Amino acid sequence: SEGYSITPWEARGKIDYDKLVEEFGVEKISDDLLEQIRRLAGDLHPLIRRKFFFAHRDLNLVLDDYANERGFFLYTGRAPSKAPMHLAHIVPFIMTKWLQEKFGVNTYIEIPDEEKFLAKKVDSLEEVEPYVRQDILNIAALGFNEDKTFIFRDSEFIGRMYKPAVLVARYINFSTARAVFGFDGETSIGLIFYPALQIVPTLFEKKRPLIPCGIDQDPYFRLQRDIAPRLNRFKASELLAKLAWGLTGPESKMSASEPETAIMLNDPPDTVRRKVMNAYTGGRATVEEQRRLGGVPEVCTVFHWYTLLFEEDDKKLEERYWACKTGKLLCGECKAELVKRINNFLALHNKRVADAEKRITKYMYDGKL
Ligand code: SF4
Repeated sequence: SEGYSITPWEARGKIDYDKLVEEFGVEKISDDLLEQIRRLAGDLHPLIRRKFFFAHRDLNLVLDDYANERGFFLYTGRAPSKAPMHLAHIVPFIMTKWLQEKFGVNTYIEIPDEEKFLAKKVDSLEEVEPYVRQDILNIAALGFNEDKTFIFRDSEFIGRMYKPAVLVARYINFSTARAVFGFDGETSIGLIFYPALQIVPTLFEKKRPLIPCGIDQDPYFRLQRDIAPRLNRFKASELLAKLAWGLTGPESKMSASEPETAIMLNDPPDTVRRKVMNAYTGGRATVEEQRRLGGVPEVCTVFHWYTLLFEEDDKKLEERYWACKTGKLLCGECKAELVKRINNFLALHNKRVADAEKRITKYMYDGKL
């Protein structure tokens, strides 16, 4: 596409989500659908209420299945890299955990510990090793129900995955995979097989799988939907998110390789302070101008993160918006408050990580890590 590109391995440029919805052939989440979720779940998580999760495939069918007691299951994942997880990484897991809690369904979490290596994002398998355990702990610490959550890493669980992966791989032709993922002559043949492994967990139960993930992951499940009927399984349903902004601007992504863009889950409080205080805002050049003209929360990364994770109350978010717009709120104060909230969140999160450590094998599919 012109101006931007989006694949599971890379997103560049200013993303036009309307165009993406059309190109990918997904649907936007309608207000009717939101109401249905609210009716069944009792309330709506801010991430979906504010349409950060904005598009879907077959979410209506998932809700039907639930309402008619056929059930469904959740599946999502995280590919460990050579750095710890950051705030943008946990957004889909927070959504998934909410869905698990509200609908009481089984949740499968794949840890593809080979993906970054096959995609040539890291130089050795050993490089990601220290982060595998840390990522699993960070995920478990978000409050997943240990009786209904099954976490597994590809390199360890492969014996149970290989047969279904072979079935999946048999039905996907190279020309299709190349068209969907943009593989080229430099792509490792490992990466060409890898989509089979990401599709396998959608086959784990004879129920409809719902996958909350970033819209960049859609290509995998587009392929899954082509072949699922031949494997006598349901087509994957998806709940699709936009890509969260990095701290350096609305077109930036949080990226561990550019530390100033991202709040890592293990950043100490003074690092969080420095990063947020340097973040890109919609503020004016001088205090005088800001008082006179007001700020522009629409392009402000600080406001973006209040919207995603750090202001649950819609009324308070709206108050912040107008205080900014009318010049009553200045960026220094607004950022300082976000620093406080992020640091409180991280302190609590890291306590939960320590707690999850004691019970971690309970989350593992076969009790091994
Ligand atoms: Fe952003 Fe807050 Fe500054 Fe407004 S006052 S531009 S919301 S940091």
